[in-house]
Amino acid sequence: MAELEGPEFGKADFVLLDEVTMEQFLENLRLRFSQGRIYTYIGEVVVAVNPYRTLALYGPPMVERYRGRELYERPPHLFALADAVYKAMKRRAKDTCIVISGESGAGKTEASKYIMQYIAAITNPTQRAEVERVKNVLLKSNCVLEAFGNAKTNRNDNSSRFGKYMDINFDFKGDPTGGHIHNYLLEKVRCLWAQTGGRCSHGNLLLGAPATLLTSLHLCRDPGTYRYTQEGAQGDVSGAGGGWQEGTRGASERGGNLRFTQEDETTLVEDTSGVSVLAELTATAPESLRRALLTRTVAAGAGELIEKVHSPKEAAYARDACAKAIYERLFCWIVGRINAGIAARGYDARVHGKSTVIGVLDIYGFEIFDTNSFEQFCINYCNEKLQQLFIELILRQEQAEYQREGITWQSIEYFSNEPIVELVEQPHHGILALLDEACLAAGTVTDHLFLASMDTRLGHHPHYTSRKLCPTDKTMEFNRDFRIKHYAGDVTYSVEGFLDKNKDTLFQDFKRLFYNSVDPVLRAMWPDGEQSITEVTKRPLTTGTLFKNSIVALVENLASKEPYYVRCIKPNDQKSPTLFDVERCRHQVSYLGLLENVRVRRAGFAYRQPYHRFLLRYKMTCEYTWPNHLMASDQEATQALLEQHGFQDDVAYGHTKVFIRTPRTLVCLEQERAQL
Ligand code: ATP
Ligand code: MG
Repeated sequence: MAELEGPEFGKADFVLLDEVTMEQFLENLRLRFSQGRIYTYIGEVVVAVNPYRTLALYGPPMVERYRGRELYERPPHLFALADAVYKAMKRRAKDTCIVISGESGAGKTEASKYIMQYIAAITNPTQRAEVERVKNVLLKSNCVLEAFGNAKTNRNDNSSRFGKYMDINFDFKGDPTGGHIHNYLLEKVRCLWAQTGGRCSHGNLLLGAPATLLTSLHLCRDPGTYRYTQEGAQGDVSGAGGGWQEGTRGASERGGNLRFTQEDETTLVEDTSGVSVLAELTATAPESLRRALLTRTVAAGAGELIEKVHSPKEAAYARDACAKAIYERLFCWIVGRINAGIAARGYDARVHGKSTVIGVLDIYGFEIFDTNSFEQFCINYCNEKLQQLFIELILRQEQAEYQREGITWQSIEYFSNEPIVELVEQPHHGILALLDEACLAAGTVTDHLFLASMDTRLGHHPHYTSRKLCPTDKTMEFNRDFRIKHYAGDVTYSVEGFLDKNKDTLFQDFKRLFYNSVDPVLRAMWPDGEQSITEVTKRPLTTGTLFKNSIVALVENLASKEPYYVRCIKPNDQKSPTLFDVERCRHQVSYLGLLENVRVRRAGFAYRQPYHRFLLRYKMTCEYTWPNHLMASDQEATQALLEQHGFQDDVAYGHTKVFIRTPRTLVCLEQERAQL
């Protein structure tokens, strides 16, 4: 183990701490951070601290250092994890996934990119052209998606405003043959306004676009020109990707500057030139567009249609809904294009063997802003679900397996966030159900009534409170705020806009308008525009319900794979490469459940394998088991093998599996095997 780190670098695995206390954990983390050792293990989990500076850790020589090595042969690194995942996929044909978690700005997206970069570097030794093409699209897709889906927030200059799960498919040789990207809940209100100190997504695009393109889209470079990009428009474009796709991105910017006035009984567009530009960009007729902006068609019964005129306020609402929808559908269209480019082509399982998958999940971390709205609510719910999966897989399943195998085990107390997940998603009773109920009710229900209904029906819940339930708490406002005690801390949400954002109404008139666009791309984005207003009978699913369904499906998908974890920690809020803010880190270590993780790992065993699988791999290292053992059972043979190597004190024998306490034992066995 020549390359294992010395004691002056702290402990490379938190399992090796003298005592498992928060203080020791933080001290080890701090010491390593101060030396640029940003990665530390808890068993196979990588804990990563954002260095906020460029470290020489990711070049080709590093790839070579980690290629094909076991996790414990080299200092902790994302590359070691990526290699372990790759080996699990290749050696054991296991579907695996890497779940990267941590709060906004902790370094999740960067970590996911290094992992992909490593996998790309170690695959396709024979340089097959198709594999190279797939790798190229996979790597470059990041850039395009970031250009359209990232924004500057006060937490992170290049914050992902969408969740991303990427599957990479591998053939029997272990080379990537395709992939698929799922995107989750693009924060589309970003296209309308930016948080204080933030910038909306399109602002970046304006600053980075070539001049000729801007001209053809009737746009100018200054984000201050457009209402949608004004706020937070100053500053640099650091982190904004440079990818460009032909599309309709100018349309929503132009639409943003449309204003409405009232004259007599009718609503008018203030400056009609905006309408013609927008019509040109969306390849629609100006007159049809003007009508979609100013009126809506409603069914008057008996198949009759009437046109209802908007007030200027309603028209402005419709305009914003339209801009958000264009942005969202464009984003989904881009993802669809990337997916078409990387879909595993011509792969025949009968000829090529089973295709295995490595999934990489980079999804927005837990968020607490000064004002938290529906988006933060969804994001934080998603993080609760992922935390629940983590607890279940790492802690609960671990304990359950020891019990099943008859191995002595001291049970560990841990915090279960199940009640919080239930509070949000329980059918008929949870917050999302109450929100849908409020949205279904006639137009009179307001955000405040929704809050009142939560107060009545969830007031007893230990993780829910509001100003009405807790009148002395002045940090919440009456008739506006409610608070959830999340596993990561308390978050106060303002109900304002919850109903609107959940309903996400876009009038059928716009859908029909764009469906009838002459531009085939635009048309393809609006298949639901085919229906006429009389045919639209079913209410579309709400944003909250769609999101819940997609997150439930995601968690099921992850749970069906062998999971690996990267837990990212943000050392401070100043983006400083030297400051280790102990309190901020303590908070994250605590809500990420890292101490529990260490305890389970220490109480437990690093590796386990069914006896027959263990023997298949290592029987050649022992005279009693090679070529075949003559003992009564595989368990006895395994015992003989391990005793011959002197490892008897580091193992336990379960009913069907052998358990090995320290990883080093396995590394030694691997070396024995390699030397033969
Ligand atoms: P969000 O949830 O907001 O998307 P995130 O966890 O994805 O946040 P990143 O965008 O990955 O955060 O990281 C934020 C910034 O921190 C990066 O833009 C980069 O400047 C810095 N950073 C993160 N990881 C590293 C690293 N390994 N080396 C150098 N800088 C890093
Ligand atoms: Mg990110």
